[in-house]
Amino acid sequence: MNYLLTRWVLAIIIKPTDKIGNTKRKGNAYMRIYLDNAATTKMSRTATDAMLACMENVYGNPSSLHSVGQAAAEALGNARVRIAKCLGCSDREITFTSGGSEADNQAILSAACAGGKIGKKHIVTTAFEHHAVLHTLDKLKREGFEVTYLDVHENGVLLPRQVSDAIREDTCLVTVMYANNEIGTVQPIEAIGQVCRAKGVIFHTDAVQAAGHLHIDVKEQNIDMLSLSAHKFHGPKGIGVLYAKTGIDLTTLVEGGAQERGKRAGTENIPAIIGMAAALEEACATMDEHAKKLSDLRDKLIAGLAEIPHSVLNGDACKRLPGNVNFCFEGVEGESLLLLLDDKGICASSGSACTSGSLEPSHVLLAIGRVHDIAHGSLRLTLSEENTGEQIAYTVQAVKEAVGYLRGMSPVWRALVNGEKEFIIK
Ligand SMILES: *Cc1c(COP(=O)(O)O)cnc(C)c1O
Repeated sequence: MNYLLTRWVLAIIIKPTDKIGNTKRKGNAYMRIYLDNAATTKMSRTATDAMLACMENVYGNPSSLHSVGQAAAEALGNARVRIAKCLGCSDREITFTSGGSEADNQAILSAACAGGKIGKKHIVTTAFEHHAVLHTLDKLKREGFEVTYLDVHENGVLLPRQVSDAIREDTCLVTVMYANNEIGTVQPIEAIGQVCRAKGVIFHTDAVQAAGHLHIDVKEQNIDMLSLSAHKFHGPKGIGVLYAKTGIDLTTLVEGGAQERGKRAGTENIPAIIGMAAALEEACATMDEHAKKLSDLRDKLIAGLAEIPHSVLNGDACKRLPGNVNFCFEGVEGESLLLLLDDKGICASSGSACTSGSLEPSHVLLAIGRVHDIAHGSLRLTLSEENTGEQIAYTVQAVKEAVGYLRGMSPVWRALVNGEKEFIIK
């Protein structure tokens, strides 16, 4: 169904909302359950406080030689050391970027540039990477590079063996995401790193969904380059990190001054960098405790939604992020489901933020073998430690009602129930 038409039809039946989108409930109370933490997270108190203090006190340009500038340079250096410590690398291996997308672009273009110079123009990746990776690879293909897309199977998990089989004499880069942003599946990063190390190929991982949520140690895990983004772990938006192992020559995407050792020009966003350092440290310190809480809530949510007939969990049930739930419901249109849930105070997603609003089904769901009709009926719910058991119970109930309501209006569902069409999800 046309997305805009759906929105128009549902807008008529939807109740009024306040300025920031809270649904007006009984007794004029506003309620909202935020379950879209893979799209972005709310800033933590720690990160906000660190940024506010920085904005009030550290206003110098780190490139200035006077004391105000040098105070900023010191704050910047400090943040770099703290972030490096969280990743298990040296502060000299950290480059600040505008976020995950830029870090992915710079990592891939750097490896391609070095490879291209010595006739190595082959890259190995998976079919379900983030668009920041896939679109950068598309650009390289137009410049004569060849890309192998590894199959991620129905469970959304790669085997290290596939990587070793795909590496050739002319392979200059393997880029595999740590955890998928739509279905949350986690890849065997350390083993993939080992394969690449043994074959002398640079290994980059988009760890945007993993950073602050899963253990990272770039040395232990044989990672040569890694991307992360602060707003996915309760830090600010518009700031990220590219870790590149000493010896890897980075290509400059932004030309100008000599900031970031000449690899990324522009006056540093000190408040955001400080906020990111505070958020990452906090996320790493509370990781185990939060993972336990989140995976308990996640499994309750999965068990509840699995009771809906003709539904299927997308991605491996165990090898997934502690806070990720992703389902397909047959005979349901994802966008309509989102709007109904929003009306019930639940913020969810049908896939990645970049694909919602477009009519193309998610490339991630297609990559794990879901057919177009099924991929259109997807729902992603991604948790944070702020969510509660009551919210999860309410959400299960709300999704059950919304799916039932949409199926009741759906000619496709009627055809399925009448046996005119065969169910794909049994
Ligand atoms: C969010 C995300 C990105 C993009 O990060 P930005 O900081 O928003 O540019 C890249 N890769 C993955 C896996 C993501 O989830």
